[in-house]
Amino acid sequence: MNFSLQYITRKNIRSLQPYSSARDEFTGEASVFLDANENPFNAPFNRYPDPRQLELKNQLCKLKKISTESIFLGNGSDEPIDLLFRAFCEPACDNVVAISPTYGMYRVAADINNISYHEVLLEEDFSLNARKILAATDVSTKMIFLCSPNNPTGNALEQTEIVTILQNFNGLVVLDEAYIDFCPEKSLLNNLDLYPNLVILQTLSKAWGLAGIRLGMAFASSEIISILNKIKYPYNINLLTQHKALEMLQTETTKNDWVETILEQREILATELAKLSMTIQLYPSDANFILVKTTAAKAIYNALVDRQIIVRDRSKVSLCGECLRITVGKAEENSLLIIALEEIGRFENLKI
Ligand SMILES: *Cc1c(COP(=O)(O)O)cnc(C)c1O
Repeated sequence: MNFSLQYITRKNIRSLQPYSSARDEFTGEASVFLDANENPFNAPFNRYPDPRQLELKNQLCKLKKISTESIFLGNGSDEPIDLLFRAFCEPACDNVVAISPTYGMYRVAADINNISYHEVLLEEDFSLNARKILAATDVSTKMIFLCSPNNPTGNALEQTEIVTILQNFNGLVVLDEAYIDFCPEKSLLNNLDLYPNLVILQTLSKAWGLAGIRLGMAFASSEIISILNKIKYPYNINLLTQHKALEMLQTETTKNDWVETILEQREILATELAKLSMTIQLYPSDANFILVKTTAAKAIYNALVDRQIIVRDRSKVSLCGECLRITVGKAEENSLLIIALEEIGRFENLKI
């Protein structure tokens, strides 16, 4: 491998002089703050939030056992995804490669940034073939997007295949681990030192139950992280989000209890779904949702909507014909879903 961060970083980003905020210029202890044109009333909301989110990063470091220089915090995972394009991909010139099917935001971010997006189909069982991914790259490929456990398929990707890609690609490998807490496979987070081209995305939106506060994380070498920090909006993580995240991160047990309950419910839901005549195939899940191939996805989706139950119709997605993606809910919610599906199976015409 011959990875050079300098080489893949856009020229304008390399030479960029970032905005320096009042809170950047002075970071010590003080009691009178007259530097940022804030209103002196309405504490604590009158103050700009910490642009470096140090307290929150310290807390995350303890939890994740990595250094603060290796963490970037964003307004959801969407922010680091967009910033990676802006830092490393020259519009109308560079391209990225991604597995398919996968999370839709990678393509949207590519389209917004005018970067061509090459999809490589997973195998029929949704497993990853490193050779096929590498074969789809060319000299202008700056990033490869992988997602494990993958959305919407639910499976974790083979770690040996991911490592083969990391070792044989000269651009960045972005590995989205949004569902890693639900997965028996280990995160690659502790292998950051081995792979200077690895960027791992995680989020508080799923296992931590905090989709509403918008906090996404990117983990990578300190060099990559400082480039993201250089181009982010100075105050990208607001005060309320920083406070709520800090509060929740104090107690990892709550998150772990939720994950345990959701995993139990996932097995019950899978067992019940398997009994339905409308189920053609259940795909094994390492996440908090189940992908299921049905006799008639659209008709079942609509019949569920009539009963005020919303699942995700993924039947238009490649390799996912007639598939619904079902998030694991609370026990009561999952029961209501199963009862509704049983009723739909009995009464509705489920022809495609
Ligand atoms: C839900 C999800 C996320 C989370 O995105 P946020 O912007 O952090 O809420 C990221 N990646 C994948 C694959 C997801 O399914």
